[in-house]
Amino acid sequence: MPIAILLFLPVCASSQAIPSGFAETCSPKDPGESLGSPPGYAKTDRIRKDAGLDVIETLIHGLRSESFPELAHVDLGVRTFHSEADYFRTRFSLSRFVLLLRMRYYVEINPALFQRQPPSEGVCAILAHELSHVVSLSHRNRIHRFGLVRLMSKRYTAKFERRTDLEAIHRGYGDGLKSYRVWVYAHVPTNKLPAKLRNYFSPDEISDIQMKLQDHPDLFVYWTKHVPENLKQIEKSLR
Ligand SMILES: [Zn+2]
Repeated sequence: MPIAILLFLPVCASSQAIPSGFAETCSPKDPGESLGSPPGYAKTDRIRKDAGLDVIETLIHGLRSESFPELAHVDLGVRTFHSEADYFRTRFSLSRFVLLLRMRYYVEINPALFQRQPPSEGVCAILAHELSHVVSLSHRNRIHRFGLVRLMSKRYTAKFERRTDLEAIHRGYGDGLKSYRVWVYAHVPTNKLPAKLRNYFSPDEISDIQMKLQDHPDLFVYWTKHVPENLKQIEKSLR
């Protein structure tokens, strides 16, 4: 192993706590800087991945206490997955579900994230999106979870994901979601963009929603039942 890496390793190991350059906590209005690669982590992917997961776990911990108090007692873990189009997703333990054991949920992270400099307020906001999934999943009883099979339908997926965005916007993560979407549009294959635009609010749609919620907060409840699928529907909501 080249000497340079040896020099880094002990340092890397000792700074397993939150390295500089990463956001330390997530709060709805904290702009933060981009989630770059911390010094000394450039050499080995495994160390970068572990350090990255540690940071994500720390951010989730902060988000739970700051913005998702109802998740205080929910069993939630972080693990990795691989995909060319997604960087974050939420899953629950199927075995626990089937065996009627206490439910466990996972926020899954694509390690490619740590090499692509996402904006840290964007990471906070998308984690708020994932925790909003955990809120809705953990509120359903097991029978209701079978209803998730509807996610096979494109239309249901779009409503499901946009409703989850609404929840994150409602908890103050709209600005972060906008910066995440701008980043993710530039970091997925072009043929994946149409699905991203169909399933999730675009920065323009989020700005419009934020503006309207400021004047008409009651629109939030209305939109969770009538999830807008495009800008026109957002505009029309007030007529
Ligand atoms: Zn989602």
